[in-house]
Amino acid sequence: MQTYDFIVVGAGSAGAAVAHRLSADPRHKVLLLEAGRASHPWSRVPVGSARLITNPAANWLYSSEPEASTNGRRLPVPRGKLLGGSSAINGLAFVRGQAQDFDTWAQMGNQGWAYEDVLPFFKRMESYSGGGDDTYRGREGPLRITNPEPRDPIFATLIKAAGEVGIPHNPDYNGATQDGIAMSQATISSGWRMSTARCYLDPIRNRPNLHIETNAHTESIILEGTRCVGVRYSVNSTQREARAGRDVVISAGTINSPQLLELSGIGQPDRLKSLGITVQQALPGVGENLRDHYAPRTRWAVGKKNITYNDRARGLGMVVQALRYAFTGKGLLGSVGAPIRAFVRSRDGLEAPDALLGWVPMLTEPSPKGPVLSRQSGFTCYAHAMRPESKGHIHITAADPHQPPAINFNFLSSPIDAEITIRAVRIACAVMTAPAMAPLQLTELEPGATKRTDSEILDWVKDVASTTYHPVGTCKMGIDPMAVVDPQLRVHGIAGLRIADASIMPTLTSGNTNAPSIMIGEKAAHLVLQTAA
Ligand SMILES: Cc1cc2nc3c(=O)[nH]c(=O)nc-3n(C[C@H](O)[C@H](O)[C@H](O)COP(=O)(O)OP(=O)(O)OC[C@H]3O[C@@H](n4cnc5c(N)ncnc54)[C@H](O)[C@@H]3O)c2cc1C
Repeated sequence: MQTYDFIVVGAGSAGAAVAHRLSADPRHKVLLLEAGRASHPWSRVPVGSARLITNPAANWLYSSEPEASTNGRRLPVPRGKLLGGSSAINGLAFVRGQAQDFDTWAQMGNQGWAYEDVLPFFKRMESYSGGGDDTYRGREGPLRITNPEPRDPIFATLIKAAGEVGIPHNPDYNGATQDGIAMSQATISSGWRMSTARCYLDPIRNRPNLHIETNAHTESIILEGTRCVGVRYSVNSTQREARAGRDVVISAGTINSPQLLELSGIGQPDRLKSLGITVQQALPGVGENLRDHYAPRTRWAVGKKNITYNDRARGLGMVVQALRYAFTGKGLLGSVGAPIRAFVRSRDGLEAPDALLGWVPMLTEPSPKGPVLSRQSGFTCYAHAMRPESKGHIHITAADPHQPPAINFNFLSSPIDAEITIRAVRIACAVMTAPAMAPLQLTELEPGATKRTDSEILDWVKDVASTTYHPVGTCKMGIDPMAVVDPQLRVHGIAGLRIADASIMPTLTSGNTNAPSIMIGEKAAHLVLQTAA
């Protein structure tokens, strides 16, 4: 058995940042365990998202339980399974969230997590080349963030159309205010995906005090009384153990972090006992408070030629795109998933936007190998509530660490989520039918002319919506009885064990979750180093 100062479980968005910062001091011996592989060729290029979303070589490929809000459908729940975690397969949009998101966390009792507390960590993690105000933006961090090419005229058209329905243009939604429509900032640089594997791990592979072990599936933590002293893991079916003199940091993500706690006897006593697991620490909140964005996609056919990716990526067009990418790193293959987005208010009088619209200038169809371009040229615009109040749960169904947990989202169980979603769909339709869009000759495919009342739109949402892959909250940070970690990210009741990933978010941030997950990793390392001695 090897002994380290720190063991980090999971090398994803947060875990890679934790390992990077903890191993910066050569006196700290750090073990980083990752269940997935070291890399995948598609994880290096932006277009690879479409290939990895259904690829078991780099994806856990979970799915949710059927439920009323999905009209009985199981939804795909992809999660990255390789160094970089979900940052290595995601849609590359870089969105921090609103200042109010973090102020809310602080108001819930999480001292040290207000916006003014987390802003230095957001700045520390990034090198943003797109301008903006230095009060908010970082220039020297490991993660390179860029603005996509704005040269495509359809983006200017969309910005004009949004303006016509009262949505202002905001060049930096990660700056002073989130409000408005903007080109998506992206974790892309020189045509390459900027995953945390690339930005946080590649530059430090040679640190002699950092040991990165891939294909290493952590199966449980080792407890001595109420102290965590290490982990048990398997590599190619061989069982191993490692000990931590100081902290074990679990960064296995929203699905696997609560799974690991439950497998280790930390969770709801009745549930654990029913599976034959000895209860080590009763924590009723483990696996609860699951939140995600539930988004229907409105779909529009485009009459005008050579406007969308469907036209440009066909036949010879695809050859041109491939050559352009090969020589310049630009074009469709080097592009962020949804290149333009709007943060909007679903009703007048709100203090801040509560809904998101995201546009992709193409139509796709599902296929076993991932989404493929439709023959029809068109636009997709998804629309969703940004801070849903509906809460689901994730729990193990067996004591076997290789058995996927059951994921129940319980979407739309809070009526306000349904209301905001319907309003967001209506705003998306208003932008698409604004005067500036007329030259594109759009035809509404979905929701369609037969779905105009609230209940018709809601039924359609239940038929078609999917998540935008932002599950959070299953090891909630807080000081209430349902909290799993305290504001220092220490698991309640267990010494030497912290959690640092999207699972600790008490509420969902207003937007995509990669940036806040990395911020959590950065802050976690700071908290560990502050208290470790
Ligand atoms: C398809 C997709 C598209 C997305 N698009 C965007 C986007 O455009 N913008 C955005 O901001 N966010 C996006 N997200 C969400 C964002 O990427 C995640 O919220 C974020 O990466 C979560 O970070 P994390 O550290 O919590 O978990 P992850 O990054 O998922 O890391 C968890 C890591 O732990 C490893 N692990 C799990 N269990 C074990 C175990 N038992 N032992 C060892 N290792 C383990 C996993 O393999 C993984 O590497 C997307 C996500 C997906 C899946």
